[in-house]
Amino acid sequence: MDAKPLAVVTPAFLPYGRQTISEADIAAVDAVLRSPFLTQGPAVPAFEQGLAHAVGASAVVAVNSATSALHLACLALGLGPGGLLWTTPITFVASANCGRYCGADVEFVDIDGDTGLICLQALECKLSNAAAAGRLPDLIVPVHLAGTSCAMADLAALVRPYGVKILEDASHAIGGHYRQEAVGSCRFSDAAVFSFHPVKIITSGEGGAVCCNDPELAERMRQLRSHGITKDPERFVQEAAGPWSYEQQMLGFNYRMTDLQAALGMSQLQRLGSVVTERNRLHRLYEDRLETLPVQLLAIPDDCLSALHLAVIQLDDDDAQRHRKVFEGMRAAGIGVQLHYSPVHLQPYYQQLGFNAGDFPAAEAYGRSAISLPLYPGLSELDLERVVTTLESVLKR
Ligand SMILES: *Cc1c(COP(=O)(O)O)cnc(C)c1O
Repeated sequence: MDAKPLAVVTPAFLPYGRQTISEADIAAVDAVLRSPFLTQGPAVPAFEQGLAHAVGASAVVAVNSATSALHLACLALGLGPGGLLWTTPITFVASANCGRYCGADVEFVDIDGDTGLICLQALECKLSNAAAAGRLPDLIVPVHLAGTSCAMADLAALVRPYGVKILEDASHAIGGHYRQEAVGSCRFSDAAVFSFHPVKIITSGEGGAVCCNDPELAERMRQLRSHGITKDPERFVQEAAGPWSYEQQMLGFNYRMTDLQAALGMSQLQRLGSVVTERNRLHRLYEDRLETLPVQLLAIPDDCLSALHLAVIQLDDDDAQRHRKVFEGMRAAGIGVQLHYSPVHLQPYYQQLGFNAGDFPAAEAYGRSAISLPLYPGLSELDLERVVTTLESVLKR
């Protein structure tokens, strides 16, 4: 007789997010590998045009990450030493760091606890104080946390009279809509940035892009993306010495996207609509199944179709100990919950710049109660059920 020991079945680890790669994606990258250009070929401009068409912006500049995209956009929008950038503390550090790269100061505006997005009352109040003190920001970076657009019309109405420029950090939000328009159209901003890191909505491996409707701004970013060099004789400031000429006119970087990345991004872009639909379907299942638990999903305003990069719940109190216990319980059960985000102003680097605990109470309470649950196309209903039942039992402990 077979006396095999019973297999101990460990359920699969469920990350909070993950990419999906199709055969078409693989074929697209394969085609580039067999082509003459691995970088600076036709795939990058094709991806830029595809993105521009998808979001309704007139110009898109693709780069090697959203972090680079934020840096270039800040520079091209004129942020420099002595300048000032405002963003919210509940974001990835890159939304604030881009100001520091330019030598500017960074300040934060607290969030709305229900949405996790910038609080417009706090913004209004801070703007009038800043105007009175003569220290208005040059640039504000609203963050479309979890894929839900900030109330951009209202935000623009508040900040435009002060001459403040607007750069949307839409790293989470490609495929989302605000008032029937795609995020990235820049209807209410100067520019918007997407990330194509693998955990985001669509991926190019690593990658990012800036959208805008100003051809001169786009041209500046293209030049900064590639060392500050232009090869267009029309734009030369000196007389061209010969057909080999290019001019470096400013200090730029190598922030270029490769054709391999662009081909993957372009292939993924074809599925953007269905990816966002599936994320919304899974999020609705969470809404139904979490209704009876003492947790609250982030609120999504009626005039938004969220891209739903994340399914973030908040516990019904902001007790740091309990928050940590729930994390540990979920992780021990193989559920890769994550915190998006621990407030940026509490990071050691920003504490060194003078920020303190207590500065942004809503963001800090959020940081003690928010938990991102697994959400990605390919998460099965059975997996989702496991997340919910595990959460239910962990919350009872
Ligand atoms: C991921 C992310 C970034 C940075 O994106 P990279 O492409 O990894 O550089 C910036 N801002 C936010 C809000 C993000 O989530």
